[in-house]
Amino acid sequence: AREVHLVRRPSGMPDPDDFALVDRDLEAPGEGEVLVANHHFSVDPYMRGRMNDVPSYVPPFALDAPMDGRAVGEVLASRSDGVAVGDLVTSNLAWRTHGVVPAKHVQKVDASEGVSPSAFLGVLGVPGLTAWVGLLDKASFREGDAVFVSGAAGAVGSLVGQLAKLKSASRVVGSAGSAEKVRWLTEELGYDAAFNYKDAPVVDQLREVIPDGVDVYFDNVGADHLEAAIACANDFARVAACGAIAHYNDTDDDPTPGPRNLFQIVKKRLSIQGFIVTDSMDRMRPFLSEVTPWVAEGRVKFAETVVEGIDRAVEGFRGMLRGENTGKMIIKV
Ligand code: NDP
Repeated sequence: AREVHLVRRPSGMPDPDDFALVDRDLEAPGEGEVLVANHHFSVDPYMRGRMNDVPSYVPPFALDAPMDGRAVGEVLASRSDGVAVGDLVTSNLAWRTHGVVPAKHVQKVDASEGVSPSAFLGVLGVPGLTAWVGLLDKASFREGDAVFVSGAAGAVGSLVGQLAKLKSASRVVGSAGSAEKVRWLTEELGYDAAFNYKDAPVVDQLREVIPDGVDVYFDNVGADHLEAAIACANDFARVAACGAIAHYNDTDDDPTPGPRNLFQIVKKRLSIQGFIVTDSMDRMRPFLSEVTPWVAEGRVKFAETVVEGIDRAVEGFRGMLRGENTGKMIIKV
């Protein structure tokens, strides 16, 4: 079995030398445990935060141990009645080829609807749930709202805009970091307009694509994007504060500036709701029952950028932080 360990806490953008590949013998499962061989695992932005040794909503990754995160794989050996050899399961065993866990910590995956198992790491997994919970529960999206999504071509963002369209938004606009992503949003996903935030100040581009203002902002980026959304917000607009990836590689000496217009929150009576999806895992079932058929019918589209080989997992993770993914960044083991 091969694992990726964190061996040093990164400063700024993680360096390949912050990680090490470690080989170890396959473990046999104990009573009540299963041995899983991973097919795919997820690399996500929140993992960058867990590489710092600071208190947060999840504990930091330990040094010299495999990192964890969502994975999908096949059960190779089982000492539990509930899980059989050959079952396809999701687990928290990311960043490794194989792992042993209590059977109660794996979830069986139903791939019978013609959906690829890796989709359970993206559109039908935690990122998908994040989009659904953020838009519907946290931003209280209503029919007729005009919606702005940042990080719109990523795993979460690409679903947010499609959900808003399916639920009769008046207008859906998004920002992303390349012309190709902008094209994907408007030509494939049905965004009404999109822009490349690297081309010109976000606030200028946002004003142009949503002249009647923003009712709901789904924030994946923070910084200049949040400032622009506040500037373009209509009275009583709602913000789902999901992430702030512009800040994740900040260091104390080099922080990315935050929004300078917070007083507009008062003047416009805005609601800004931060949330962590793991508080809403009870929403997984209603989310899946609504969105799985849309994915199976092709009414919801999704993309995956797949990096092959555990030896390239760190490259995939760093690539995701730099925007090399369209849709979900996935490591194929
Ligand atoms: P993505 O698939 O969106 O991948 C990250 C993307 O962020 C990159 O592809 C890149 O795209 C973009 N990006 C990187 N740096 C910047 C920057 N400085 N400014 C603007 N965009 C940048 O990741 P996810 O969909 O998994 O996550 C999206 C957001 O949602 C993250 O902020 C994440 O932390 C958050 N999240 C929050 C959860 C919660 O419970 N609150 C749960 C899951 C995710 P580009 O080419 O467009 O720059």
